[in-house]
Amino acid sequence: MEVDKMDENDWKYHGEGNKSLVVCHVQFPRVLRLLKYPAADSENPPQTAEQAFRQIQNMVDFSSKVMSSLLGDKFIHSGEVVKLPLEFVRQLSIKIQQQRPAWRCDKVMDIYSGCALCLPNLTSPALHQATLTPPLCIEIKPKCGFLPSHKHVSKDIKARVCRYCMHQHFKVASGKWKRRSLYCPLDLFSGNKQRMTFAVRHLLEEPQNNFKVFKGGQCVYSCKESSDDPPDVNGLLHHLRPYFLQGNNRTSSHMTNKAILNDFIQVLVNALLSERGDGGAVTDRQEEGRSFCEASLFNRERVGHASQGLPADSVLFRILQTQMLDTLDIEGLFPLYRRVEQHLQDFPKERSRLQVDGPYNEAFLEKVQKCRMEDDGSVESAIAKVHQYCVAMTAKDCSIMVVLQPREEEEEDDEGLRRLRDFRPSPFSSSVSILDLDPKPFDSIPRQLRLDQKIVSCYLRTGGALP
Ligand code: ATP
Ligand code: MG
Ligand code: MG
Repeated sequence: MEVDKMDENDWKYHGEGNKSLVVCHVQFPRVLRLLKYPAADSENPPQTAEQAFRQIQNMVDFSSKVMSSLLGDKFIHSGEVVKLPLEFVRQLSIKIQQQRPAWRCDKVMDIYSGCALCLPNLTSPALHQATLTPPLCIEIKPKCGFLPSHKHVSKDIKARVCRYCMHQHFKVASGKWKRRSLYCPLDLFSGNKQRMTFAVRHLLEEPQNNFKVFKGGQCVYSCKESSDDPPDVNGLLHHLRPYFLQGNNRTSSHMTNKAILNDFIQVLVNALLSERGDGGAVTDRQEEGRSFCEASLFNRERVGHASQGLPADSVLFRILQTQMLDTLDIEGLFPLYRRVEQHLQDFPKERSRLQVDGPYNEAFLEKVQKCRMEDDGSVESAIAKVHQYCVAMTAKDCSIMVVLQPREEEEEDDEGLRRLRDFRPSPFSSSVSILDLDPKPFDSIPRQLRLDQKIVSCYLRTGGALP
């Protein structure tokens, strides 16, 4: 990418989260991820250009040196920091403004630093020719897939109902979403195909910010701008239909919408379970008790005791293992956070030795991986637990991108050949990546505790009462 020849007309709005806004190149499979600030700060940016550069470099290091070791580097694209001409960034921000959803506009794109993260476009990885069928890409933000242990939580409900399911009640009560999603992450992370299918079905029904579908790099299904309207499943079906007609010996008129959605979900679940490279046996999950959420509507009787577990090298297994570095829950962690905080008040210079805000390097990774289970009362053991917790938080917030590329068929006139083709195992090849792997700041921990308390008390107040 030649940064001195940047033209805003070569880029278009692609999407955004809470922290960053993403634009994609119209021709090449590249995106730029730009920082966002609260709109109230738009006149004076909260950090200098150098600090912004440092922040993005930190994101790259955290992803490439820490998260990629934990999650598997085959899933991860860390990208690189780029310095862009300010005029380009300003024009770009004007150009994309009207495409942004209103509910995201409490923040503005950073137009002051000229820094951005350049990444491969994971929704449209190859430069597909116009003649080939464009790839389908599914983005899932799975959230936390396990229950904390009884030992560390003050409210028993936290060990029975998962955080996502409780949070849904809070989000509806506080007006963030109109309807509650019935998706439960514990079903998705179960490795049991029936439970996973059930989970994906509910993601699809109420996508919120956890589920999106792209076709040829273009978002064709996501939550509606106005959360009053149900999502446009018919629109999605219209896009999916051509992909699912072959392969099942059915003709278009016979293939019902239900069958198309079923096939789509099956292909997606299989891609999520597929192992990548290193192989490995199917590992059994943690104790059964921590992998079922009482709020999930999935009927437990349907699986009985046949817990399948996740394949050891599947993307979900790696994400879950990393999430489970949070062994103490926020409640068990908070006293350790306080110990570090107190120490930093007494010895502010220790912030850099303890790598509170990085640098994210091999030494940091070692602290995360080698953290002793026993707390010996030292600031070192406290910060190691804090680092583990923050790494787990990143894994609870990441997204998975599954790209489904239809295998190209040769033109066949022969009926026999066509029938043979219909029995091929899958008409798609799939590839999986993980994105959104930013480090979570040390200072956000007290906010995490307060949010946790609000969610739990809201659930205890309203949870049982809602359908
Ligand atoms: P969150 O609020 O979830 O923390 P965020 O602000 O950190 O989000 P991202 O999730 O990284 O931002 O990016 C926002 C959206 O942009 C993603 O949900 C995804 O749809 C899209 N996106 C991000 N990176 C890429 C990429 N490399 N290729 C294609 N699309 C991307
Ligand atoms: Mg995100
Ligand atoms: Mg993020």
